[in-house]
Amino acid sequence: MARVVNPKAEELLDKEFKVLNHGFVRLVDYMGGDESIVQAARVSYGKGTKSVSEDRTLIRYLMRHQHTTPFEMVEFKFHIKLPIFVARQWIRHRTANVNEYSGRYSIMPEEFYVPEETVIKYQSTSNKQGRDNEEVPPEIRRRVLEILLEEQKSAFKGYQEMLDYNIARELARINLPLSLYTQWYWKIDLHNLFHFLKLRMDKHAQYEIRVYAEKMAEIVKAVVPMAYEAFEDYVLNSVTFSKNELLLLKKFLPENFDDAELEQFDFSKYEKTEIKDKLKKIFELK
Ligand SMILES: Cc1cc2nc3c(=O)[nH]c(=O)nc-3n(C[C@H](O)[C@H](O)[C@H](O)COP(=O)(O)OP(=O)(O)OC[C@H]3O[C@@H](n4cnc5c(N)ncnc54)[C@H](O)[C@@H]3O)c2cc1C
Repeated sequence: MARVVNPKAEELLDKEFKVLNHGFVRLVDYMGGDESIVQAARVSYGKGTKSVSEDRTLIRYLMRHQHTTPFEMVEFKFHIKLPIFVARQWIRHRTANVNEYSGRYSIMPEEFYVPEETVIKYQSTSNKQGRDNEEVPPEIRRRVLEILLEEQKSAFKGYQEMLDYNIARELARINLPLSLYTQWYWKIDLHNLFHFLKLRMDKHAQYEIRVYAEKMAEIVKAVVPMAYEAFEDYVLNSVTFSKNELLLLKKFLPENFDDAELEQFDFSKYEKTEIKDKLKKIFELK
């Protein structure tokens, strides 16, 4: 089979999708598409691509059973512009290849993240890592913006002055705040990208990284629609239960499903068997 040219990816290449006040996501390059996943999965049989509906069933099967390596056959290379505090969370995803703008080599532009007033919230009382939903009064929100802007301006003024004395850029930059923007090329395979999206689209992720993940998810959805649909159904919108949670659920579950009930949902032949196996497992729990 020849190299996969993905028309949707070709269409998206090099377009800048704006995120936050100065950030963006840009698809620089890609390798493969849904076809590459089925191609890899079927390599052992040497049968090549079958019908679209069979490809979809296969991709969904692979996702459901965590047969992950075929998803690694698709790659995305993004150019991302993001605030440094977002980059610090992002870089924890070790399975990507990264090349970042160098503040030792180049002068940092005066571009800082300034939140929209509406996302300025109080510290959450229930989640130590998050924001509350309660409205912050407009005068406090305005004051927060004033503080952020004053400090950003002052830090950049110092940086600029040190550069004027010809102090080394690697030293002049050390007081610049986390709200300053940086840029990188970020290359990752689809399996690990899905893992990133699952963690960073979650409502527990910080808003400022979530908006990047959501924008990238739109691109991924367009480029690999079948794989993304499977990811949404079996990963993003699925939940896992602990043993005790299952013991609780057991009380409310029917021991058997009427096959007619199953017809109402978009289940494949295998899934119907799998559901029955799962139910059996729950009912065997003690
Ligand atoms: C909501 C949220 C809050 C967080 N809070 C904190 C925090 O307070 N403090 C903090 O330090 N971090 C925090 N993190 C970061 C988190 O602990 C992970 O480092 C980050 O999400 C990357 O996840 P990962 O290691 O699964 O991803 P990746 O690094 O992309 O790795 C993907 C998978 O590859 C495997 N893998 C990769 N490298 C190794 C390795 N060396 N050894 C074994 N397996 C490996 C693992 O299976 C891993 O799940 C937070 C993350 C989230 C989403």
